[in-house]
Amino acid sequence: EELRDFHRRYNREKVAENRQDYQHGIFQSIGFKEFHEYLVSEGTCSPETSALLLQKGIQALKQVTKRYARRQNKWVRNRFLRRPGPNVPPVYGLEVSDLLRWEEDVLKPALEIVESFIQGREPPAEPVRMEYDVNENKRSHRVCELCDRIIIGDREWAAHTRSKSHLHHLKKRRRLESAGRVAETEGDSGGAETSGEDSGLSLP
Ligand SMILES: [Zn+2]
Repeated sequence: EELRDFHRRYNREKVAENRQDYQHGIFQSIGFKEFHEYLVSEGTCSPETSALLLQKGIQALKQVTKRYARRQNKWVRNRFLRRPGPNVPPVYGLEVSDLLRWEEDVLKPALEIVESFIQGREPPAEPVRMEYDVNENKRSHRVCELCDRIIIGDREWAAHTRSKSHLHHLKKRRRLESAGRVAETEGDSGGAETSGEDSGLSLP
């Protein structure tokens, strides 16, 4: 009924005027565009066809929801569980595979975690641990000469080399080097070697 209402109010006219592509704003969201065929044909086709189109919409909805969930999981893993640092919040895992146990497995523990976060208490659950590589050395020492910093641990080093501040220093260094090279080349009579391997560095 909610989909029908939304369709009647905001979509039917657009579709009728052939200016709905489901690419903008709220229309892109998962759970509406999947029912396009069902909604536009309802009342003008047989109840059997309508029921079939509804099922088709539900199947499509499940499929895109799963795809979206996979992408979200991947994002959470990459952004939080594989990246160390004080600005990474704890991540809690919930057992979501049994829908019949939704209340006690998902809703209740989730609310408890949020509640304790709001009240500044220790949550009742353990956060998901960071993913570690077995070959990883947590105590390795590396000196980043660019940033003049000592980095301890392989994971931290990997994170450092991708960090904004490191990339900023790297860019600055390359710019200086390439300026130096230009000056050198201009100094002697050659003058033709100013372009070449560093030409991409002026990109933002
Ligand atoms: Zn660095």
